[in-house]
Amino acid sequence: MKPRPFPFHLLVFLCCWLPAYSRASDTIAFVDVTVLPMDRDIALPHHTVIVVGDRITAVGPSQEISIPDGSQRIDGTGKYLIPGLAEMHGHNPPAGSSQSYIENTYFLFLANGVTTVRGMLGWPGQLELRDKVRSGKLLGPSLYLAGPSFSGATVRSPSQAEQRVRLQKSEGWDLLKVHPGLKRSDYDAMARTADTLGIRFAGHVPADVGLLHAIEMRQETIDHLDGYIEYLQAEKSPIDPAKLREVVKLTRDTGTWVVPTMVLWETIIGAASLERMSAYPELRYMPVAEVQRWITGYQRRTANPSFDREKARQIAANRRILLLALHDGGARILFGTDSPQQFSVPGFSIHREMKAMVDCGMTPFEVLQTATKNVGEYFKGRDTFGLVAPGHRADLILLKANPVSDLGHLTQRAGVMVRGRWIPESEIAAGLARIAAESKH
Ligand SMILES: [Zn+2]
Repeated sequence: MKPRPFPFHLLVFLCCWLPAYSRASDTIAFVDVTVLPMDRDIALPHHTVIVVGDRITAVGPSQEISIPDGSQRIDGTGKYLIPGLAEMHGHNPPAGSSQSYIENTYFLFLANGVTTVRGMLGWPGQLELRDKVRSGKLLGPSLYLAGPSFSGATVRSPSQAEQRVRLQKSEGWDLLKVHPGLKRSDYDAMARTADTLGIRFAGHVPADVGLLHAIEMRQETIDHLDGYIEYLQAEKSPIDPAKLREVVKLTRDTGTWVVPTMVLWETIIGAASLERMSAYPELRYMPVAEVQRWITGYQRRTANPSFDREKARQIAANRRILLLALHDGGARILFGTDSPQQFSVPGFSIHREMKAMVDCGMTPFEVLQTATKNVGEYFKGRDTFGLVAPGHRADLILLKANPVSDLGHLTQRAGVMVRGRWIPESEIAAGLARIAAESKH
């Protein structure tokens, strides 16, 4: 008997039918949860949040929201749901890092609820990582990437600056990174070309440019606050209150964003305690050789004869006054820790930075907004996320305690969702244990 031909028509039917079928399991419902939407300081108890694919589709009182058949249900009783957090001055591991180190870094971010990272230094090949994460081939936070930096070393003429902007724009980078050393004429050429092509620039304030000119040229974010300290001549003396008020007002009126990176900068200037930092439990998730480099780097900086501990302490104190003044004065603040970087372990660094911001005088709610709502406003027009609200990207953290009453509660996770992918705490714990074991080598 002749074998029957393979029923290709059925295969076509199956292929068309499968995605439709899998859609029901794409739906996840957080049931009877307290929602902290983050657009205002409110807690919404006994709510249901529906997620379909990578979007939040419904948020409302549990008795009013119907859960689609076949949905995965996550019990939110006694728990709190907040938007995923953003690291707005973050990094990919350096060029040449192994794939596993990159994947581990992404996992450390996610494990701590960091679902968005603005990567502040590009290298060739990073854009592929961004696209792989976006398409779901790689598990990681959503990446928005600045290209290779504009610095005194990489740019030596206005025409070179212009060409570099054109190249990075055509390659598809999301942002241009400004580093120290850039001359004012080259900076201006970069800024003008960026405006023409519709790409933004952000990062440091080069000394030759100065804070006021950077703001005037509409640098999108001023990172690390050091440009402010330099402008205010606050390296050795207290800040002049009148000058401070003036620059805060200018920052607010121009809508310039500020990414303070408080904890990292205390490490950079040598105002931190090496003994305390060396005992951070999260160091176990970083390769030992990397941690050793951080320790010797800090020792070398602070042992240098030109190192002035008093000056470092004065700068650190002035930075705290500055952050609160910017916040109280209505400047727009974005959350960032510059991880991975000296003693700033991806994801884990957010807890230290949040505490530092509260110590400056911000409330826990205000600090959380810098990593959620404000980030959504910064990315407006490119994607919608940063709130627990319909239409927003399904980046969420489920917590066992209310983080608005104590930011320390951010470590009491029940799970994290990134673009609709649910990672329960058991999976997070297993991933962290694996990374700790790998990092010993
Ligand atoms: Zn950085």
